[in-house]
Amino acid sequence: MNEQLIKLIELQDIDSKIDDANNNIEKISGEINLLQETLVKKKEQIESAKKDITSSDILKKEKEVEIALIDEKIKKHNMELNAVKTNDAYKALLTEIETGKNEKLKIEDELLVLMETDEKNSKDIKNLQKDYEKLEKEFAGKKALFENDLKKETAVVLQLSEKRKTKLAELPKNIADRYENIRKNKNGAAVVMVEDNACGGCHRNLPIHIIDELKKGKDLITCNNCMRILYQKK
Ligand SMILES: [Zn+2]
Repeated sequence: MNEQLIKLIELQDIDSKIDDANNNIEKISGEINLLQETLVKKKEQIESAKKDITSSDILKKEKEVEIALIDEKIKKHNMELNAVKTNDAYKALLTEIETGKNEKLKIEDELLVLMETDEKNSKDIKNLQKDYEKLEKEFAGKKALFENDLKKETAVVLQLSEKRKTKLAELPKNIADRYENIRKNKNGAAVVMVEDNACGGCHRNLPIHIIDELKKGKDLITCNNCMRILYQKK
């Protein structure tokens, strides 16, 4: 086999491994992001439930003030009852007192609903917090593993990048450039194996003359369709 072709195959092998490692890095980073997003979402749920309780507290205070005002009014009317002179005025006061009492009952019911909702929200917060802590612990373990993998893959990329630099420098500049160009245009694979007389890159059948040239093993032969550099398994 052509000596440059052997170097190109080795270079392609290194680059494929770098591509694999980079793909793994991307995948692992995605997993780590996913874990973090899940935690953030849980935290947002907790914050939202806490906010509900805060606004409920404000509402409850308002309702308590309303009740106090009504109580005062009822007390005042009760005192006025002793002083009225006419039957009509007496009746009017009684109606006012009754209305006040009914209104108070209505507000007290509303207060009760708010308190029940608060209770539910407090329970939710407790459960969410428990979930969060569990997830956080679980994720801390997973994250450590992911980060370890990330470190390994990054080391692989660094080490192989050095190796590729050396390998590339061993090739004549025009061939190195050609290789880099095909790799850039063809999504990584610049040097491919011929399988059953078909190009290993684009999978088209190769013309007989190209197969013949390949067998001679003198020049660098490219696929007539995708322009990738071809080699045959010995
Ligand atoms: Zn091809």
